Amino acid sequence: MNHLTEEQLIEHYYGESQQPTRIDGHLRECSQCADIYAALRNDLAAIEPITPPARDAQYGEHVWQSIRNFVPVYEQKHQSLWTRLTNLKALAFVTGCALLVAVAFFAGRQWENHQHPAQIQTAANNAPRQPIVLVVLGDHLDRSERLLVELKHADSAEAAAPVKAEAQDLLSANRLYRASAAKSGDPALTAALDRLERVLVEIANEPDNPSPARLAELQKEMNTDGLLFEVRVLRSRVQGDEKEQQTGAVRTKGVSI
Ligand SMILES: [Zn+2]
Repeated sequence: MNHLTEEQLIEHYYGESQQPTRIDGHLRECSQCADIYAALRNDLAAIEPITPPARDAQYGEHVWQSIRNFVPVYEQKHQSLWTRLTNLKALAFVTGCALLVAVAFFAGRQWENHQHPAQIQTAANNAPRQPIVLVVLGDHLDRSERLLVELKHADSAEAAAPVKAEAQDLLSANRLYRASAAKSGDPALTAALDRLERVLVEIANEPDNPSPARLAELQKEMNTDGLLFEVRVLRSRVQGDEKEQQTGAVRTKGVSI
């Protein structure tokens, strides 16, 4: 059997024990713990509770008398005329600075307003139209690339049929882009679109359901692998231009607002 600790006995004495019945039972059966508890009770009983002294009417006066020598004396500051003038000068300086900042700010805004209409117009002339062209051209190159890949893997008449239809579909758009590229002075794009057009014309003019052997021959003749590579390079270039145009447009917008 475990004996009771002093802490448990103290708690029991003040009636704060969690298990008073068990402790009472132990004290009845164990003379050792009962002796310790009896001694503890005597000691604790000797301690009288501390009670605060009653306050009389003079309490406030007593407190003041006991602390008055430690409190620093309050002296009203007498400002000289010079100090007051210096303060006024500082105030005037701060106000002047604030005024200058405000004037500079409004002047800057006015200047910006004068400058920006021209910039916005330039942006309106160039930026918004260009990305649309690039997006559409990127889409066209994407479709052409897929067509060339399909052509490469067309190993039956069934697989070849949609390639022909797609080539017919792409042909008219390709003519427009080639003409536009030639007009805007982009020789690399013009040359690639020209070669692409010749391949598209060939495929579009094949008889219905061309044989895979014929398609393989066509690929060899037209070097479509080389063209596929060229189209891929162009597409990534066009997409790069497109991104640049978009960020350019956003930047212009950011400045003008
Ligand atoms: Zn005990």
